[in-house]
Amino acid sequence: MEGKIIDGKEISRQVKEEVKQGVERLKAEGMTPGLAVILVGDDPASSAYVGSKERTTNALGMHSEVIRMDKDTSESALLEEIRRLNGDPAIHGILVQLPLPEQIDEQRVIAAIHPDKDVDGFHPQNAGRLMAGMDGFVPCTPLGIMVMLERTGVDLNGKHAVVVGRSNIVGKPMSMLLLQANATVTICHSRTEDLPSMTRQADVLVAAVGLEGMIGPEHVKDGAVVIDVGINRGEDGKLHGDVDFERVLPAASAITPVPGGVGPMTIAMLMSNTLKSAERAHRATR
Ligand code: NAP
Repeated sequence: MEGKIIDGKEISRQVKEEVKQGVERLKAEGMTPGLAVILVGDDPASSAYVGSKERTTNALGMHSEVIRMDKDTSESALLEEIRRLNGDPAIHGILVQLPLPEQIDEQRVIAAIHPDKDVDGFHPQNAGRLMAGMDGFVPCTPLGIMVMLERTGVDLNGKHAVVVGRSNIVGKPMSMLLLQANATVTICHSRTEDLPSMTRQADVLVAAVGLEGMIGPEHVKDGAVVIDVGINRGEDGKLHGDVDFERVLPAASAITPVPGGVGPMTIAMLMSNTLKSAERAHRATR
């Protein structure tokens, strides 16, 4: 039973260890990878995410810069800060913590980050590169899921993958990555008719919706691999996924828990993307 629960903590530990070694190699050649994170406002959840990114960046030996801006910050002041970081040679990754206060246009901010420093992979140029199968930065959550699947030995070739959710940060890039890995991909969303009949066809089912326990046993084919991206704060104050874990577990051949599944992979891939950006910058100077 245990073997079929995919251990995201362990796989993310391995990825972080590999990144740490990469950072050491780069530092030995005189280059320290640097990640800048901008937080606008004082939302407690966003603040906690930024704190954990800062700690991980430091723990892996990278340079970390956290810029905390007031919740009333204007869009132009934020864009100015991004321009400064775009030109800072000590910074290889720039991340603006979302969501942003309502006076700021999220898309304009994302587009202002230099695509070569867009380690979140949200810039339209990187989204286009992913679509075209070109090298670029890929959003951390779907990228982390691909690493998980690979290291768990899940064969995607010719398999039917069903992704529930079509957001720019999870559902759409996830679908593109699965397609690139030669899966046959179906994308479902809030307007999909008869969701269970779609998801029951999945050899690999990815739930990225944000509704606690919305995927039950009636959605899952026997032997399916089930990946739960959802993070929902339940009435019990604990974190729950989109998948009704206990009830789906018997049918799944492999399944990610929440917490301890996809979540830890996201931050590990952010570190990996930052290292990749620094390595590229280093190669360009030689
Ligand atoms: P989002 O932007 O709100 O997108 C949710 C998607 O789910 C939308 O495409 C929506 O369809 C679809 N949907 C909503 N209700 C549905 C229903 N009843 N049936 C089928 N589809 C439905 O959310 P997101 O940013 O992609 O995040 C999804 C979840 O993943 C959230 O819980 C979030 O907290 C979590 N998350 C986790 C991580 C991590 O590191 N583990 C990272 C990012 C996000 P429409 O497009 O039709 O509205």
